[in-house]
Amino acid sequence: MSLKDSVDAVAAGLGDIRSELEDFYKDLHAHPELGHQEHRTATRVTDRLRTCGYQVHDGIGGTGVVGVLANGAGPTVLLRADMDALPVREATGLAYAGTTSATDASGRQVPVAHACGHDMHVTCLLGAARLLAAARAPWQGTLLALFQPAEEPGDGADRMLADGLIDRVPRPDVAFAQHVLPHPAGQVGTRAGSFLSAADNIKITVHGRGAHGSAPQAAIDPVVMASMIVVRLQTIVSRELAATRPVVLTVGSVQAGTSGNVIPESAELLVNVRTYDEDTRQAVLAAVRRIVRAECDASGATREPDIEEGTRFPPTVNDRALTREVAAAFAAAFGDRAGTSELQSASEDFSRIPDAFGIPYTYWALGCIDPDTYQAAQQRGTVAQDIPVNHSPRFAPVLQPTLDTGVQALVAAALTRLAQPDHRRP
Ligand code: ZN
Ligand code: ZN
Repeated sequence: MSLKDSVDAVAAGLGDIRSELEDFYKDLHAHPELGHQEHRTATRVTDRLRTCGYQVHDGIGGTGVVGVLANGAGPTVLLRADMDALPVREATGLAYAGTTSATDASGRQVPVAHACGHDMHVTCLLGAARLLAAARAPWQGTLLALFQPAEEPGDGADRMLADGLIDRVPRPDVAFAQHVLPHPAGQVGTRAGSFLSAADNIKITVHGRGAHGSAPQAAIDPVVMASMIVVRLQTIVSRELAATRPVVLTVGSVQAGTSGNVIPESAELLVNVRTYDEDTRQAVLAAVRRIVRAECDASGATREPDIEEGTRFPPTVNDRALTREVAAAFAAAFGDRAGTSELQSASEDFSRIPDAFGIPYTYWALGCIDPDTYQAAQQRGTVAQDIPVNHSPRFAPVLQPTLDTGVQALVAAALTRLAQPDHRRP
């Protein structure tokens, strides 16, 4: 017997639960919840985990849930799904589109949609958890099914850790997670080493001296300061770093003044930096601080700029050996639908969990676009225009084969460690 035989033995139960999982997904999609507000989702997950025999720890870090299934001596594997939706008004036209609104963290009423596919992650993990609970003979060890709140705001994993996650569940040996991306459904893509970028958000306030718009000699113009900073920051990427060190630096917001004939007192910039390793990250953040201060000096500012670090995401760096094992299991399970994924400039907080446990992890891409639609766009050369990406109001994973593939991928990855010891090789 091979690992593939074990995967097939567990996944054989998929036919029995497929329609129930599809209904569960549609229900979640129609009832999206913002980060830290995933009460309905968490309750539904908790109920189903208990029904199939999991010991459930809920309310971890607010709405976090971990189901634990002990099945004899052996390794412990953590599978993770994120649960939250986004403040987006859904425009997919689906019969089960989300139409609800919610109050966000700042007190504003916002539309809510599962525009990043976390409802698919939850459903796939629940499916894998159920299959592994129903077919316990092909494996031994302990399975942790972790449902994490608030990936989008970036603090969901941290809140679970701050609420004692490490002491409340058995220590895993490895951790796995997946994310739907706008690739053809049915495909899975692994990547050894760096996969997702780290992200740093920085708020910069430069202080000048306000004056009448007709009297620049009386002013220290913060609009000019901010403008020079916006342009000069791009030279960090183009002039300070080797071409082999990918970095994205975006100034996404510039705010100053209210009138054309008034030079304002200050200007505010919101900067987002994406990097793939800590050395590069530190180099870029130091360069941002240096340039901002120097431009303020160059303008003759009499007050130091304020540079505040905001939300931060860690890099996702897949363990190479573990990724090779999972890639081999995927190749056995999916044939040529298993491939490698490109480096992504998106970010995730998943890695905080395995990092806190000090264990290796791998995170892979799950295709979710109808393969015919994707291929047609590819032939026209219009993938970028015609295929909605995550966070778009029109982003909607095709239900199948995305769901089946995501369930099977989690089962295959888990079994690289949990299959009976002589069956762990593909
Ligand atoms: Zn997202
Ligand atoms: Zn996401």
